[in-house]
Amino acid sequence: MQGCTRRRSDGWFTVGKKSAAAAALVLSGVLLATGCSSGSSGDSGDGGKKTGGAAPATPSGSASAPADDNGSASEAAYRKWGLKPFPAAPAPPADKPVKPKPGEVPVISDIPTDKKIVFVTFDDGAEKDPKFVEMMRDLKVPFTMFLTDAAISDNKGYFKPLQELGNSIENHTLTHPNMRTESGSRQQHEVCGQQEKLTKEYGKAPRLFRPPYGNWNEATRAAVKACGPQTIVLWRESMQIQNMQYQRGDKKLHPGDIILAHFRGKGELKGHTMTEMVANMFRHIQEQGFAVARLEDYV
Ligand SMILES: [Zn+2]
Repeated sequence: MQGCTRRRSDGWFTVGKKSAAAAALVLSGVLLATGCSSGSSGDSGDGGKKTGGAAPATPSGSASAPADDNGSASEAAYRKWGLKPFPAAPAPPADKPVKPKPGEVPVISDIPTDKKIVFVTFDDGAEKDPKFVEMMRDLKVPFTMFLTDAAISDNKGYFKPLQELGNSIENHTLTHPNMRTESGSRQQHEVCGQQEKLTKEYGKAPRLFRPPYGNWNEATRAAVKACGPQTIVLWRESMQIQNMQYQRGDKKLHPGDIILAHFRGKGELKGHTMTEMVANMFRHIQEQGFAVARLEDYV
């Protein structure tokens, strides 16, 4: 795309996508803010490193893979998705390392820890692939969902089985604007509006907020404080299709890193499925010897 910079990607739609939600955003002029945020545009530039193995991430059968006796996913469950099991994550800390002080809204991109753990997050909610539900039911890898109303409104029920697996639904605004270009009152409308909708739909008030594109300012912080979430959560790595984009120059995962991925399908992933993308992400994490822990246990 001419004139695009390789900014951090956090867009949930690509230009030309025909969803009603995208159309609404185009009409409201917000599309301007998406820049070069589609996953496909960002996928080519992170060094060309491909993940090892082209094992199928979409199995032909749809039977649930067995879990072992202690409830964690079995090796067979991982094999079904062309993966090997993760090392076990350590038990959640008794004392959370990120504790917001009253009246303060911390902004975090990672969790302070010396354990070899990372945190997986999925944003927006545009793609609703039943295979992803099957995959996460099989693998039992914890993750956090940051959902935007405009992206999920056509099928909010899709996310309930994912929530029932123990994964939290968090706030990612009503319409996915670039918060830095919005007034304080608009920002508050975006955060409080989605806070109310998510609480009503999913029965639990979000504790975390992620600003679209990772863009925020002090008015965002004030809006978050007024609307209920306690912490603003950014990220250290962004999963594309095959490759992970790293913010740090050493291009490695570090203990406590928060990884951004999206609910995306073939249209955004150059013909690849969401479960293929997720399998690629898990291989990157495994190759570096990390386990996946639950973000809400640490913040
Ligand atoms: Zn987003």
